[in-house]
Amino acid sequence: MNAPEDPGPHRSGGWTQAIPTGLQPAFEDYVRKHCRSFLLAINLIAAFAYFSYVIADALVVPDIAMTSLWVRSILIVIGLGNIFLVFRYSRSVLLMDQLMPIHDIISTVTWFELLKHSQSPDVPTYLYASMIFIVLCNLGVRVSFKGALACSLAISAVILGNVWALHPGDPKGVMVFALVYLPVLWFSLFISWTNTLSVRRAFLSDVEVRCQQAELFELNQRLQELASTDGLTRVGNRRAFDAQLLSNWSRTQQNGRAFALLLADIDFFKAYNDHYGHQAGDMCLKQVAYSMVHTLRHGQGKAFRYGGEEFAVLLQVSTLEELRHIVERLIGQVAALNIEHRHRPDGLDHVTISVGASLSRSAEVRSAQDLLACCDRLLYQAKQQGRNQVCLAPG
Ligand code: GH3
Ligand code: MG
Ligand code: MG
Repeated sequence: MNAPEDPGPHRSGGWTQAIPTGLQPAFEDYVRKHCRSFLLAINLIAAFAYFSYVIADALVVPDIAMTSLWVRSILIVIGLGNIFLVFRYSRSVLLMDQLMPIHDIISTVTWFELLKHSQSPDVPTYLYASMIFIVLCNLGVRVSFKGALACSLAISAVILGNVWALHPGDPKGVMVFALVYLPVLWFSLFISWTNTLSVRRAFLSDVEVRCQQAELFELNQRLQELASTDGLTRVGNRRAFDAQLLSNWSRTQQNGRAFALLLADIDFFKAYNDHYGHQAGDMCLKQVAYSMVHTLRHGQGKAFRYGGEEFAVLLQVSTLEELRHIVERLIGQVAALNIEHRHRPDGLDHVTISVGASLSRSAEVRSAQDLLACCDRLLYQAKQQGRNQVCLAPG
């Protein structure tokens, strides 16, 4: 997974911890993953809690109980329909989050409209049950505190306005109600604020952790690359070669497909160094390595620096003809670099290589070490026979 845009270290997002625009889609994914089930559950619980109040209506305001049953039945069907539509088809986390506060506003309005038609003497006491609307509105949100705040203000206006209307000429009753109601409002708003804030903070720290993990992964890749690359020639180093040889060997044991190894050594390189200097020697090593890498066609093989002026190449070939063809091309291309070397005792005037090569299924080879030893012997033989040539193990 790609790490999302870096939010920057310890960026303060204000009192509601605003999410940077670039991170908004990732935030919505996070909410869908971590809060959707909670939001769905709380919507369903609230819907059934709302319907269960029909029993309280029957006991406290029996004169409107039947109407209440009808109104609550219709509203719960609409409410459950909305819940289904939003959670089944919408991807908007804001809608999932604010569905219950919106339902709450509608429930509050209809409940007070019902109460206004009741003659029950218990209505003033029953009004206190309206606290549940503000509590549900605020305790269920996880995404938008601003949305919860707006709905809370609407619900509070409906509740306090209706309480005022239901207490004609009784300012003390309204005041007592307000004194009980307002702390519940502050309390639930505070919980709503901390809940939404903690979701945002959890998301941002999740982003930070993922950014750090991505950075670590990249550093690890870079480190592995450094640990397996030869600093001078940029081909794989001895460590990488040893690992690759073993891996090729175990693969060939499993699938039976042969591969080949060749060891190449620059001829009279000590003399080259002695006469042209070590810097020129280094440059020569780089050129030879570059030539080998570019002579091998993509996927055909991989070159490594075995040590000093020796290179190893692992090849994906299975016949001696193919192997001979590639080795001759390698030798030819190094010679074609035409790097001047006038201090070699064999009369040539440019840099050349000698090669020992063998297929992995050569007769005398029984292990990766055998293969290496075999190529080493063949390389020695190529040197003995006059250099600038290849010695191949018989098939
Ligand atoms: P032969 O044809 O038999 O291989 O003879 P040679 O002179 O190439 O072989 P020898 O083993 O005597 O010398 C290898 C030289 O390679 C000696 C050393 O100075 C040089 N060498 C090894 N590593 C490096 C390197 O990283 N940079 C440079 N400039 N020279 C190196
Ligand atoms: Mg050597
Ligand atoms: Mg040499």
